[in-house]
Parts: sequence; structure tokens; C-alpha cells
Amino acid sequence: MTTSRFAPSPTGRLHLGHAYSAALGRAAGTRWLLRIEDLDPGRSQPEFVDGILKDLAWLGLPHDGAMLVQSERTCLYGAALQRLVDERLAYPCFCTRADIAASVTAPHGDAATGYPGTCRGKPDDPKRRAAIPHSWRLDSAAAIARVGLPGWREVGGGHFASREQDLGDAVLARKDAPSSYHLACVVDDANSGVDLVVRGADLRPSTPIQRLLQRLLELPEPTYLHHPLVVHEDGRRLAKRDQAPTLAALRQAGVDGLKLRDDLGNGRLPYGFRLADA
Ligand code: GLU
Repeated sequence: MTTSRFAPSPTGRLHLGHAYSAALGRAAGTRWLLRIEDLDPGRSQPEFVDGILKDLAWLGLPHDGAMLVQSERTCLYGAALQRLVDERLAYPCFCTRADIAASVTAPHGDAATGYPGTCRGKPDDPKRRAAIPHSWRLDSAAAIARVGLPGWREVGGGHFASREQDLGDAVLARKDAPSSYHLACVVDDANSGVDLVVRGADLRPSTPIQRLLQRLLELPEPTYLHHPLVVHEDGRRLAKRDQAPTLAALRQAGVDGLKLRDDLGNGRLPYGFRLADA
């Protein structure tokens, strides 16, 4: 039995790229779970969750089991963070919000943090921590020294090595968000028995960090399927500013959701779109 999942962030309407990912994931998993990644309080909106459910129903992609909502599971992430703190693998970071704003949502593109290590290796100061809101970062060098640098396996048998320079000291929790995308993702994937992670190739740079966290937290290793992205015929990414059609718009225009799902699952894209690697 294979367990896969679809993990959208409720920060906007779903588009063809999400439908493609969901169609592949549903076809690949005997069990296919739905997880709402709503840890970013500034960007997540409950009405988008309704939209996600409507879109998946229209595509004929029912999920198995209960829908998982990350904002309801923050104690699990807190426990994982505490373990890393206790093992001196995480340190508090007092840098500004702008430095770390990108850490809570999945970084489509480049996962390396570019963080210069300002707060790393400082003596712990509980008074300062109590007084000043702070985030927590993984001490990636200490982590690698502890468990090595795990690579990952893709469906089809490919083995990929992680490179230290792609890691950076990833944010694990932010002052206004109890967990970063990376930490919540590995905790939830393990907790719900996900053994096949199906997601866009733009999230591939997240995999070395997530593999490292899995090893540190002694979580099982899933297999990965990083699929090509749906882009406009001229290569532009699907994004609101590019006027990518939302699934809601396609539905309202009378498109047959089941046929679209089957076409996408077989790699057939609607006119004007194509697949491209990230
Ligand atoms: N929530 C992420 C997104 O919206 C997906 C993360 C994942 O599949 O690991 O792209």
C-alpha cells in the first residue's frame, strides 16, 4: 500500500498546476491524503479551504481519511522542535522578520536560506529569549556532523545526493508561526504514514533539508516524485499575475472536471499549456 498526499496552502485559488499534482498523487497512492498547509497567519484564508474542497470534488479526486489542518496540529511541531533544541541542533534567532519571512510557506524555487549565521553559536540567554520574540533555526553544520547528509530516492529508482551548500540554517519556527513549512511537512508526512511525496519540481530544493530533519527526528524515509510543472506555452509559470485560469474559472466555464483530471493524469494538457521542469 502506498500513501501519498496533496498539501495545498490556502493562500489563493488552485490552478491547473495543482490539478496536475493532485491527479498524479491520487493515481500514485493507494491512500491519498489531503493536508491544508495553513501555518502562515498572514497569507492563509479559510475561504480558500472551501475552494480547495470544491475544486477537488469537481475533479473527482476525493481524499482518504480526515482532512488534516496544520494549524490544528501545532503541538506536534512544538514537540519536534523541542527535541532539536534539547539536542542542541537548533538555536534562537533574533534577526528581523524580513530576513525570515519566506520560511513558513513552501519555497518554490530556492530553498537555501542565504542566512549569514548571525545568531549561530551564541551562548543561550533565556532572559533575552523570554523578552524578545525570536525564531528558531536548524544548526545545519551540527546536524550534518551528527547524522550525515542524507540524499533521497525518486520514483523510478534515481538516487540523489544532497549538497551542504544547498542547506543553510533553515528556519524551524517563526515568532508568529509555530512551525516552518519544512518542520511541519516532515512531522506530518511521518505521522500520517506518507511514503510517497508527490509534488512539483519547484519544491525539489526543499528535499535535502527535509531529509536531514527526517534523519534527526528518526522519521521514516519516503520516496519522492518531483513532477514537472504546468506552464504557459511560452514558458511562463502559472501565477495570478500571469492570469492563469483558476480551477474555479474552468469549472464555471463548463469544463468537464473528470475529463480534465484524466487528461492531466495522462500528461495531456489543455491548449496553451505544457509541462516543464522547474
Ligand atoms: N504547501 C505546499 C504548496 O502549496 C506544498 C508542499 C509539499 O507538497 O511538500 O506548494
